[in-house]
Amino acid sequence: MKIETKCLHEGYHPRNGEPRALPIYQSTTYTYDSTDHIGKLFDLTAEGHMYSRISNPTVDAVEKKIAALEGGVGALCTTSGQAASLISILNILKAGDHFISASTIYGGTINLFAVTLKRFGIECTFVDSEASEEEIQKAFKENTKAVFGETIANPAIAIFDIEKFANIAHKNNVPLIVDNTFATPILCRPIEFGADIVIHSTTKYMDGHAIQVGGVIVDSGNFDFTNGKFPEFTEPDESYHGVIYSENFGRAAYITKARVQMMRDLGAYPGANAAFLLNLGLETLAVRMEKYCRNAEKVAEFLNESEKVEFVNYPSLEDNKYHEISKKYLPLGSSGVISFSIRGGREDAVKFMDSLKLASNVVHVADIRTCVLHPASSTHRQLTDSQLIAAGITPGLVRLSVGLENVDDIIFDIRNALENI
Ligand SMILES: *Cc1c(COP(=O)(O)O)cnc(C)c1O
Repeated sequence: MKIETKCLHEGYHPRNGEPRALPIYQSTTYTYDSTDHIGKLFDLTAEGHMYSRISNPTVDAVEKKIAALEGGVGALCTTSGQAASLISILNILKAGDHFISASTIYGGTINLFAVTLKRFGIECTFVDSEASEEEIQKAFKENTKAVFGETIANPAIAIFDIEKFANIAHKNNVPLIVDNTFATPILCRPIEFGADIVIHSTTKYMDGHAIQVGGVIVDSGNFDFTNGKFPEFTEPDESYHGVIYSENFGRAAYITKARVQMMRDLGAYPGANAAFLLNLGLETLAVRMEKYCRNAEKVAEFLNESEKVEFVNYPSLEDNKYHEISKKYLPLGSSGVISFSIRGGREDAVKFMDSLKLASNVVHVADIRTCVLHPASSTHRQLTDSQLIAAGITPGLVRLSVGLENVDDIIFDIRNALENI
């Protein structure tokens, strides 16, 4: 099946007389004929749902669909993108371990890695993703267990060289985790370029309608956790009567462990209703992503020609730093997210934002409707102008998430707001 078809048909296959649409199994619990069967579920020797903190048939269908879209062996849905990032790391690292992350990643992930995981005893080194292999290699330590990056970084719109980082990670016998939120599997499938684990905030394009927060972790099944660096995969888990994940679950060891150990203990599993709504978003993901790209390309060109705009970050523009690399990783387009800087700085950016009539001023991105955010007065408000510039954010920077409205209406709104400055 091609990806558009997978969006509609993967995950749920109704049999004779069963509902055509994915049913919502709104149940916390599942009934079995014998205690013996339930015992086997607890030993992980029988398949089946046990309790909806660990799995649920509606969520399961959506997990199978996302795994198929990304080309993985399995997926685990979470209650937020943050929970997906957290669990993707905790499934591999424990106190005393270290990992490496590209510095151009989502701000919430930076907080998680630099502050909260540090308090858990897990250390992260941030590297410049443009640095040479030799430079990046210097960040590796004896206890380094993973590498992390984001396909299209939010809000810098920097493109992550997945293949380069996969090679470095694999040379050091550790997996590469990629946050593929903005690209979605429609525009880029990181596993095809060597990523081992893919995560998403499904809150963004996958849901697409700004109705619920969610996340997902996808396992490629390609990383060899038996290479000696990951004893939690190769030694018995006493909390499961001595199960050995790599032996019992083979290529699905990572995602099985994430579910039965991490999710069991951390409890960030979405409900059936949430999965049903996410599935509606996924069904139209392919058509939406294509339209976001076409609209954003036109808007980026318009902005690029405006005298009030200092620069525009969008890979389809010929002069963009990531123009060449985007052809390799994002041949269909670079999503609907653009960032650009208003020449007049902070004050004029605010005036521009407040003059928009169609685009909404929200703390959100990758939505069906056009929306904008001014990092300097919201997400990065605590920083001074010089700190902002160090973080790659100019005081006049606006993050614009181009929606599915007619592009002429979007440009009309932007033109009027720019004229108001
Ligand atoms: C929003 C976002 C997250 C966090 O996801 P939530 O669903 O808000 O928890 C992680 N990564 C990226 C790239 C994001 O845009």
